[in-house]
Formats: sequence, C-alpha cells, structure tokens
Amino acid sequence: MEKIVRIVGGGLAGAEAAYQLARRGECVELYEMRPHRMTEAHATGNLGELVCSNSLRSSLITAPAGVLKEEMRRLDSLVIRVAEDNRVPAGSALAVDRESFARGLTQAVEALPKVRIHREEVKDIPSGIVILATGPLTSPALSQQLVSLLGSQHLYFYDAISPIVSAESINLNVAFRAARYEKGDDDYLNLPLTRDEYYRFIDALLTAERVPTHGFERFVPFEGCMPIEEIADRGKETLAFGPMRAVGLIDLRSGQRPYAVVQLRQENQEKTLYNLVGFQTKMTYAAQRRVFAMIPGLENAEFVRLGSLHRNTFINSPQHLCPTLQWRQRSNLFFAGQMTGVEGYIESAATGLVAGVNAARLIAEEPPVVPPPTTALGALLRYITDPERKSFQPMNVNFGLLPPLSEPLRKKAKKEMMAQRALADMEAWVRNTEGGEVFVPLDADPNVPSAVAR
Ligand SMILES: Cc1cc2nc3c(=O)[nH]c(=O)nc-3n(C[C@H](O)[C@H](O)[C@H](O)COP(=O)(O)OP(=O)(O)OC[C@H]3O[C@@H](n4cnc5c(N)ncnc54)[C@H](O)[C@@H]3O)c2cc1C
Repeated sequence: MEKIVRIVGGGLAGAEAAYQLARRGECVELYEMRPHRMTEAHATGNLGELVCSNSLRSSLITAPAGVLKEEMRRLDSLVIRVAEDNRVPAGSALAVDRESFARGLTQAVEALPKVRIHREEVKDIPSGIVILATGPLTSPALSQQLVSLLGSQHLYFYDAISPIVSAESINLNVAFRAARYEKGDDDYLNLPLTRDEYYRFIDALLTAERVPTHGFERFVPFEGCMPIEEIADRGKETLAFGPMRAVGLIDLRSGQRPYAVVQLRQENQEKTLYNLVGFQTKMTYAAQRRVFAMIPGLENAEFVRLGSLHRNTFINSPQHLCPTLQWRQRSNLFFAGQMTGVEGYIESAATGLVAGVNAARLIAEEPPVVPPPTTALGALLRYITDPERKSFQPMNVNFGLLPPLSEPLRKKAKKEMMAQRALADMEAWVRNTEGGEVFVPLDADPNVPSAVAR
C-alpha cells in the first residue's frame, strides 16, 4: 500500500515539505486550519502567508541569510523559487509582494501531484509518518497535545531572546573572566561599568524606542524573562540589583568590585559566540545597536542576533530532536519550521525542506540525511539539536554557528571564505546525496534512530 505523509500546518515549512515529498513521488495529506480557524496574526487562507515583514533578508552571498537562500536554491526550494518570482525592489534584500507570494505558493502546492489539502484544524497528533509544522501560533488544542507528548517543561509559548555577539568583536582589554563568587570555572566574560557608565546606559535604555506589543502578545512574563527596559522602568537601580549585579565579582586587574557588570555567556562549543545574559528586550533593532554599543567592551561589537520577546510556540529541540528533524522517540514523527526553535521565514522553510526530504527517505528505506556542518543549513540544524545545549532559545542563521576556518581570517575576508566553503560543501553534498550516496554518515550519530518506524 502506498505510504502517506501527513503534514500539519501549511505555512512556509509545511508548503516546502509538501513540495519536497511530491517531487520525490510521495503522497501527501496537508492539513491547514485557515481560513476556518484563523491565528491571531494571519489574515488570509493562503499557504505560506507572511505575517509581518515582507523581507526574506539579504541576498548577498557574503551574508548568512544570503548563503542559506543560495543553499536552498541548490536544493530546489519551492519557497525560494516562488519568492524570486514575486520579488519587489529592496536593494540587496529579497523582498516579496506578500499577497502574490502567498497566492503563488498556494497555487504551486495545490497543483502538486498526489498532494491533497485539507482545510481543518488537527487537534491530535496523527499516526503514521507525520511532519508537524504548525508554527509560532500553533492552535491551543494541538499545543496541549504537545505538552502531553513532551512534558510541559519542553514546550514554550514565548521566546525571550538575548542578543548574541561574535567573540572576536568583544574588547578583551575591558572584559575579565570570572564566575560569581568563584563558583565554577571562569565561565563568564564580564564587562564592568563604573557608576557613571551605568547611569548613562540606563538613561539611554529608558528613552530608547520600543517595539509595540500586539494585543495577543500581552502577557505577564516571568521575572526571569522581563525585557531589560521594563526592569529599568521600575527604578534606575533595579538592573544593578538584577541581571547587572556585580556582587561576587572582582575585576582582578583593579582589585575592585565594579558598580555593575554585563555578563557574557559562551553560546557554542567553538567559543565564537557569546550571549548577553538576561538582556532580552523589546527595543527596536536600531535602538539595541546604539544602546548596547554604550557598554564598555562592546563599542565595536558585531551582533549576530539581536534581542526580542515574542509569542512563539517552540519545542526544546536539543532534548527532543535529531539533526534529521525526527523526534528521538518516534522516528516517523518530524518537526519543522519555527516550532523547532529556528527563527525566521527562510530558516523555517529550510527545516521544512529537510523534513520533507527525510520523510521521503524514510518511505524509501534510505537513511536520513543532514547537510554538512560547514553549510549554513547543516550548522543551524546542529545548533538547534545539540543535546549539550542547556538553555535553549530560538536561533536565526549566522556565521557564528559555522565551524571556524583553518586560517585565521577576519571580517569581510572571513565571511567570504565561510560562504565559499558552505556553498562548495553543499554542492558536493547534493551531488553525493542525489547520487544515492549519503554524504554524512548519520548512522554514526547516536541520536539518530536507525530503525525505520512503520
Ligand atoms: C506576529 C509575528 C510576526 C513575525 N514576524 C516575522 C518577520 O518579520 N520576519 C520573519 O522572518 N519571521 C517572523 N515571524 C516568525 C514567522 O512566523 C516564521 O518565521 C514563519 O512564518 C514560520 O513558518 P512556519 O511554517 O513554521 O509557521 P507558519 O508560517 O506560522 O505556518 C504554520 C501554519 O500552521 C497552521 N496551524 C497552526 N495550528 C494548526 C493546527 N492545529 N492544525 C492545522 N493547521 C494549524 C497555521 O494556520 C499556519 O498556517 C513572526 C511571527 C509572528 C507570530
């Protein structure tokens, strides 16, 4: 009997997954609850509706989002093709006419052979081969099912994203390594502030422009994930007693305890990225760049991710998913899109592509695949599914996720070389994978289920 793949959610990830399955000759039942049941942000019944910006970010091949898009193009991504057909002028970015893009994507999926679209809400996780791609605004009934499946501590309804800077852009003449009360190794990089520096920073923070909160996003955050500017609203000293407290920290160079500190925590094993601990924020991106550059040591910082706080449904992928996007406890259940903890339109579509390819390989009894870690897509998948990651927050594609180069290049030359390496490795991987050979020997990965669940 012909096997069917059930895809839940017809957003960017679900539409891309359907296409990848259809082009491999597989049968798909795609479930999308709109227009019968709308989310708080969508306005139409179209598949792949963009709920906010109409930009799919940079097209430059030296920018991480540009590299990811180029990789997806080489993997024959439907989302990228439809986006290019509907592009509007936006300098070096790939921006689209949002209505014709979503209409075009809907028509393309409707025309796929062996793909049936059901306009209904899925409340229970189906049996058989399934791709769950219900996005940041997953319906409450299905969210409840996910809580039962994964445990309430493994499904999140909001993200609280702190900015991340590249290690090489931190001024190490200012930063000092220490853990509070010398507990643990010198795990943190600390950026000390004098009283004057602290007050100048707070004044800038209080007057910085903030992103308005949508009605459906109003919520009472836990104390541990309040935006820093809202903590500062409570009083100018509050941050100095909260995330910026210097208690237990001595700057050995001065022998003094600073008035306040910003702590930076290592974000990846390669030590190329550091996050600003407790600095989730709803300041606009422009305001963040300006205000955070006032922190001593971050004057020339390169922000690979800026802070945010959103309504967002995502799972604790490092604890639950393989890099192939299979749930570790049921190899025929795939997750895709923003709910895997990737952040952004193209990242979501890219995970849909991988889930679609691997669901097709499961049917064909071929081992699942993951692009190499030197590619933007491979690096992103490994980041979100690294079981060593303890505190997980969604991530967008950036060069800090890729393994360091063998030669120590800097800035533009480094980005160009990383982009070249990514595309060359993707090219080789596509050749080998399409030729029937698995480029990455996933059987060697202990987290990848070897048995094909039926
Ligand atoms: C308010 C808001 C603004 C955003 N702004 C941006 C931005 O500017 N730029 C950016 O890159 N990203 C933005 N994002 C993130 C963006 O939503 C994702 O990047 C992208 O849309 C995720 O793709 P997806 O396929 O995972 O989810 P979606 O595109 O949301 O698709 C999921 C689909 O599943 C459907 N669905 C949900 N539950 C069920 C169910 N139980 N049964 C059947 N169908 C269901 C939904 O109707 C939806 O169509 C924003 C998110 C939100 C919430």
